[in-house]
Amino acid sequence: MSIGFYNFQKLHHPDLQKKVMERFEEIVSQNAFVEGKYNTLFETEFAQMQSTKNCKLVANGTDALEISLQAYGIGHGDKVAVAAISFYASAEAIINVGATPIFVDVEPETGLICPESFARTVEKHDIKAVMCVHIYGLPANIAALEKICSPKGIKIIEDGAQSQGGFYEDGSPIGSSNHLITYSFYPTKNLGAFGDAGAILTQDNDLAEKIVSIRNHGRSSEGHCLIGRNSRCDHLQAAVLHLKLSEIEEQNKQRKEIAKWYFDALKNVNVELVPEKYIDLSSWHLFPIRLESKDQKYELQRFLSEKGIGSALFYEKSMPEEMPLLETEGEKENAITFAHKTLCLPMNPFLSKEDVQVVAQALTEFLK
Ligand SMILES: *Cc1c(COP(=O)(O)O)cnc(C)c1O
Repeated sequence: MSIGFYNFQKLHHPDLQKKVMERFEEIVSQNAFVEGKYNTLFETEFAQMQSTKNCKLVANGTDALEISLQAYGIGHGDKVAVAAISFYASAEAIINVGATPIFVDVEPETGLICPESFARTVEKHDIKAVMCVHIYGLPANIAALEKICSPKGIKIIEDGAQSQGGFYEDGSPIGSSNHLITYSFYPTKNLGAFGDAGAILTQDNDLAEKIVSIRNHGRSSEGHCLIGRNSRCDHLQAAVLHLKLSEIEEQNKQRKEIAKWYFDALKNVNVELVPEKYIDLSSWHLFPIRLESKDQKYELQRFLSEKGIGSALFYEKSMPEEMPLLETEGEKENAITFAHKTLCLPMNPFLSKEDVQVVAQALTEFLK
């Protein structure tokens, strides 16, 4: 028996494929390839689902980060704080708009941005914005960051690429805050397209308008009014995303159920899990565990692989350890340790309770 890390076969079941093909035929027959009716339908329904006023589709999650920075007017000469545990794109986006990333350290138990480290960072640097990442789907402590940012006018951008379906600590859905929140709909994310796509969510209608202009060459009703780019979302991708919306809430519920099974099954196993309060909050995009050392992590990955159990290293190293970022300033001690010890177990909506027990049994055997 093998247990996959993802399960695209079940995710993209024949009935879904059939409906996708029907929509593709419709789009081809109308030659409506970019920004069509499904873009608008998706934007309206997704904004509603995430309890916010505006959703604007863009070409991918990295563009969503770059366009958010541009919408806030951040560019050359500006410093942007960023959590040291994330996918490379978070720091990359800051550099691509001409700004300088400054790393902020993370909480040792979650990999989430550490508010104390952020407070030290704003004492030391003139920070214009902070990019906080809801890593693995766990909610970053936005309330603590707001307390530091509000008096100084520092903008908050939430990288929500992994957080679709998650909740802030006050119970409201991630995506509903007063900041810019970016999404990636890369196929492996909780909500994935059949290719690349992304979105930015905001309660602010003026920012939403600016994003619409930036994603389409700075266009507005009066012509080209600013220097934008092309980051339009294909109609075909919007059509897929809109179809998948009808299944996503059920799938996210199932992820939470599976996380609960893992917590039960791993109760007496000597691995570190994230604190239990996150069971109901996380989108459970990934299920991270922490081992004792880097060596133990790699050994476990081999052991699981021999048993046909998928696992993945998110992230094999922290962002500050990636070669082009080695000279970047900031705090990173916890992030380095965290990345070295963390391994992600299979997580997708189609795992059975037995699958989870098989994984837990393998961990027990490995650690005895
Ligand atoms: C996937 C991801 C991105 C990038 O999204 P793309 O759609 O691949 O450009 C950015 N940040 C985080 C945390 C991600 O997981």
